Amino acid sequence: MPQNISRNPGRHFLQIPGPTLVPDRIMRAIDSQLIDHRGPEFSKLAKRCLEGIKTIFKTTNPVIIYTATGTGAWEAAFVNTLSPGDRVLMVETGQFATLWKAMAQNLGLKPEFIPGDWRTGADPKQIEEHLRKDKAHEIKAVCVLHNETATGCLSSIAAIRKAIDAAGHPALLMVDTISSLASTDYRHDEWGVDVSIGGAQKGLMLPPGMSFNAISDKALEASKTSKLTKSFWSWNDMLNMNKQGFFPYTPATQMIQGLAVAIDMLHEEGLDNVFARHARAAEATRRAIRAWGLEILCRDPQFYSPTITAVLLPDGHDAEAFRALALDAFNISYGTSFGPYARKYFRIGHLGDFNDGWILGALSLTEMALGLAGIPHKKGGVQAAMDYIESSHSRAARAAAE
Ligand code: PLP
Repeated sequence: MPQNISRNPGRHFLQIPGPTLVPDRIMRAIDSQLIDHRGPEFSKLAKRCLEGIKTIFKTTNPVIIYTATGTGAWEAAFVNTLSPGDRVLMVETGQFATLWKAMAQNLGLKPEFIPGDWRTGADPKQIEEHLRKDKAHEIKAVCVLHNETATGCLSSIAAIRKAIDAAGHPALLMVDTISSLASTDYRHDEWGVDVSIGGAQKGLMLPPGMSFNAISDKALEASKTSKLTKSFWSWNDMLNMNKQGFFPYTPATQMIQGLAVAIDMLHEEGLDNVFARHARAAEATRRAIRAWGLEILCRDPQFYSPTITAVLLPDGHDAEAFRALALDAFNISYGTSFGPYARKYFRIGHLGDFNDGWILGALSLTEMALGLAGIPHKKGGVQAAMDYIESSHSRAARAAAE
């Protein structure tokens, strides 16, 4: 905050890749008075959410709602389906893949990590080759992130499904959709995903503290023989209680109030429009970065993320100092950097509840912050973003008129 000012006027530009801004309508739902979580009103609300969330994962199977952050839903996916010593195939896309792999180790699983350079998504061919070598089918699960939040790289889950099938391998497919769900197309059933892991605080526009496991019949079957210790995370207890619209414990009732509204809002906008809005903001952001003459961390366009873009700074410029300066001068927060590229990049989140004007505002502040920080760049990034957004609106208008 500029010196001698004790209040920041206007809204904070929360451009981290989640938690994202919570719409006022969801805030008001969360702010409602408490109700009996074993009573009829709650049961109706919970059933509405349990059905509604299926439409977001695009599944007709059950979705478990946990009172936990995404990390809890990661653990739930493992402990419900696997047994101690099981081999699992994971892909090093970045920080979150690395954390998930560490969790697998902590739980007594044997993760095999396909190495990556943190600048692309998962390669289906490598997955297929790895699985083909496992003739005894000892690998019990393939675990990938749909969108690596740390780097802004999106992987093709449909292609990974095909790779697993091409290898004729029966491993479960587990997918982390935490920073992609409700922001870009995701199809749990069609892509043959066995456990999809979601979180509340990104595309769903809710505060952190709620997460999900969407489960296939095959995953449910695996849960009957899985031997990892589970209690709080047990799908079984949840599924039984959920039938009546209840939970085995006191759920985060206010988050459920918020979730019902979030699902309504996503369908009012239309999921395809939500996805198009995210894709437009992502492309506008990339065009701005290119016009500034800076480099996008994701080095292959086929993996560009619709929700997060990481921007590499030229050598000798510290991304953490840049983030601090931008926050101080313009009240804007970017995502931090990790791993081999720590302090070398910052992340612009473009997900959740925003519009074209908001993204252009964020990019304008970024262009000015680059100038203030003395980071060599060209002007005109915001203009490039505006030109793109304008042209995509005129394309859409022409298409509607045809
Ligand atoms: N997976 C991904 C892709 C994430 O982005 C995050 C958090 O940002 C997590 C897992 C962990 O979720 P949480 O911080 O809600 O526990």
